Amino acid sequence: MRIRQIETLRLDVPVRRPHHLALTTIREQHFVLVRLQTDEGLEGLGEAATLGGPTWNEESAESIQAAIDRYLAPYLVGEDPSRIEYLLRRMDALVRGNLFAKAALEMALYDLRGKALGVPAYDLLGGLYREAIPLSWSLASGDADAEIAEAEELLGRGLARIFKVKIGAAEPAADVARLERIAAALRGRAVVRVDVNQGWDEPTTLRWLPALEACEIDLLEQPVPRWNLDGMARIAAATRVPVMADESLCTPQDAVTLVTRAAADAFALKLTKAGGFSASKKVAAVAEGAGLPCYMGCMIETTLGTAAYAHFVAATPNVTLGCELFGPLLLAGDVGRPPIRYADGQVWVPRGPGLGVELDEEQVARYRRPSG
Ligand code: MG
Repeated sequence: MRIRQIETLRLDVPVRRPHHLALTTIREQHFVLVRLQTDEGLEGLGEAATLGGPTWNEESAESIQAAIDRYLAPYLVGEDPSRIEYLLRRMDALVRGNLFAKAALEMALYDLRGKALGVPAYDLLGGLYREAIPLSWSLASGDADAEIAEAEELLGRGLARIFKVKIGAAEPAADVARLERIAAALRGRAVVRVDVNQGWDEPTTLRWLPALEACEIDLLEQPVPRWNLDGMARIAAATRVPVMADESLCTPQDAVTLVTRAAADAFALKLTKAGGFSASKKVAAVAEGAGLPCYMGCMIETTLGTAAYAHFVAATPNVTLGCELFGPLLLAGDVGRPPIRYADGQVWVPRGPGLGVELDEEQVARYRRPSG
């Protein structure tokens, strides 16, 4: 089997309510879809989701599409798609960085390989360790009353029992007051954690740590900018709340650095930021070797990307802190089917073959950017 053609599409999908992060406010998500076709008629699908422009990191939907179309796809066409590790090394040798672009292509290679063998992608990643993953829902509207109502609704529907409060966009005192109200409303009924998305500096974090601890949060994610590993280490040493690295952690090399410098107590994984399944497995392996638990974050994927992330967690035992694979619930539209199952506070892992997701062509046409 040979790769015959690789097509990319850009999609813009609105979200159900504005999602306020320290970095930006999301009103619509930007995606690159990858369709990888073989000479035997099989198709592998991949996706890279971005928060608007080059906001979470340097990559945007436009740069991802350009990196794939101009530089990565031409090196893959004509190759045997089953040689995934070989193709990854080749891409790394030819193109620096651009990990979201590489992850979307690798996702399509795994989807294709699963379909070719008639097995789910998790079978290629170690097999089914867990069938369902506890779901963490992100509260990010910025209004405590609305967020408490949102959490109550999700609790009532049995969709989530973990709530991650996004702070760092407002003044710290206002953010902490908001967190205190949410934590008090949910105490004893749900787990509450916090993600600052690099929004604070070290003195601000140390100043507000006692208030965060009093809210009984179970995780403090990325309080300071990604480069400030010494600050992360001092914050981690100053609190009994586990400090989780997200923006500071992309590659296996970052994972080793974080462990060596004692800069994190937990790792937030994301397939795209690492460059895909293979690199994320290595990050999880570093965590396991260092005795650190992992969490699966997201970039607000459609059903397709969400399925890929779920396959990874299904086959990776030390992702014990749950996941935030709520993209399909927050997006106002979707391009994948069948829908992901959400029940009992968990995301249920789709069964393949491959990622177990088909594209709904009508919805692809609806959300496709005219120039994309
Ligand atoms: Mg985060």
